[in-house]
Amino acid sequence: GFVIRSQPQQMSDEYVRKEHDRMAESFRGWFSMEAKSLVERIQKKTRPIEFYPDQTRRSDGPAYLATAAFVLPQLSRDRVVLGGVSFDPCYLKQTFFPEMLAEIVNEKLSDKSGNQIAVMIYPAEYEGRGEMKPIAVSSGWGEGKPEVARKFDAVFEGLALGVKFQGTSVQQLGESWMHRSFLTLGILSLLIIGGLVLTKHVVSKEMALAKLKSDFVSNVSHELRTPLALIRLYAETLELGRITTKEYEFRETDIADLVRNTLDSYRYQIEQQGFALQESIDSSLPAVRVDREAIARAVVNLVNNALKYSAEEKFLGVKLYRDNGAVKLEVEDHGIGIARRDLSKIFEKFYRTGDPLVHNTKGSGLGLSLVRHITEAHGGDIAVESTPGKGSRFILSLPLATAAVSKPRAVATGS
Ligand code: ADP
Repeated sequence: GFVIRSQPQQMSDEYVRKEHDRMAESFRGWFSMEAKSLVERIQKKTRPIEFYPDQTRRSDGPAYLATAAFVLPQLSRDRVVLGGVSFDPCYLKQTFFPEMLAEIVNEKLSDKSGNQIAVMIYPAEYEGRGEMKPIAVSSGWGEGKPEVARKFDAVFEGLALGVKFQGTSVQQLGESWMHRSFLTLGILSLLIIGGLVLTKHVVSKEMALAKLKSDFVSNVSHELRTPLALIRLYAETLELGRITTKEYEFRETDIADLVRNTLDSYRYQIEQQGFALQESIDSSLPAVRVDREAIARAVVNLVNNALKYSAEEKFLGVKLYRDNGAVKLEVEDHGIGIARRDLSKIFEKFYRTGDPLVHNTKGSGLGLSLVRHITEAHGGDIAVESTPGKGSRFILSLPLATAAVSKPRAVATGS
């Protein structure tokens, strides 16, 4: 017994009638051959129902058709009874699928996860083959292809569900995300670079300041230490009673004798330090009125400087000779020499040149100013000739006639 019924109110439609006839024929043929094995197969399923996709036609063109075949669970197993329902393709297309899609979209909308989605149903056979003709679309589908597609299994075999975002695509989303990321990265990099530049700026400023501070402290302490040491030295000298008066005491003096004696008391030290001493002292000089102590001190100062400021070549030359109306004393060395710009300054109090050897040698910068003071007190003058790296020659000149008339002046004794 085989019965097939279509909706009676639609039987006036020629396509529905044709479909009815075609189905009656094909199902009858199929069931007469396979009904028994079909029933057995369906009975084994947990959900005893099987779907068959099919194509049919309606006035607006080809249509999708789904047929469900099922067994009746209350009937005894040895009877071969099958029920079946074919869904009206117009109902699927116009009512069922659109409602299903609207439900999916609404469900997604309600979870408020940002972008709205759109869905559609289309025949899976169109997959990747040019233009696809959707069977049903949800609102907001617009144009374009689905981002994701899933085939329906079992129930609507042959159809697929396509999903995409409304008004945008995954690619667009990715691009805008990338733009945002690069922008953020750029801003962060700029901030980091700015921070580094600022830090470097601040640190170098701090360092310059620290250097300035330490330079200042070392300079000041040096400047303070030197005169302080000197003041102490003078105080000690006075205390020892070495100097009873601060005034020059001019006496007729054999100047050659005085220079020779002064050198003699230094000879040991000069030789000890490895210096070659070349003396040239004119013994036939007339007596000169000088302060012996002061002149000896001036000689000692010049000799001392020659010893202090010689590096590789250790030579000391001392000459005493008559030059017209004056007695000249020359002290020469082959030492570090003095730069031209320093020549006029070395006779100033506390002035020392920037040479590293000078820096590392003890001294107050007072010696030469004292020498000049003494010389001038005797009515004479002091000159210097020097070539940096070659050596220096200090020429102290005392007038023969006027030495005696020079007024005595107060002076502090020196190194
Ligand atoms: P001090 O020797 O205590 O530094 P001086 O007044 O004697 O002070 O000398 C002043 C500066 O002149 C020295 O610091 C040094 O720079 C320079 N000077 C003096 N004599 C010589 C010399 N013979 N050769 C090179 N430089 C010299």
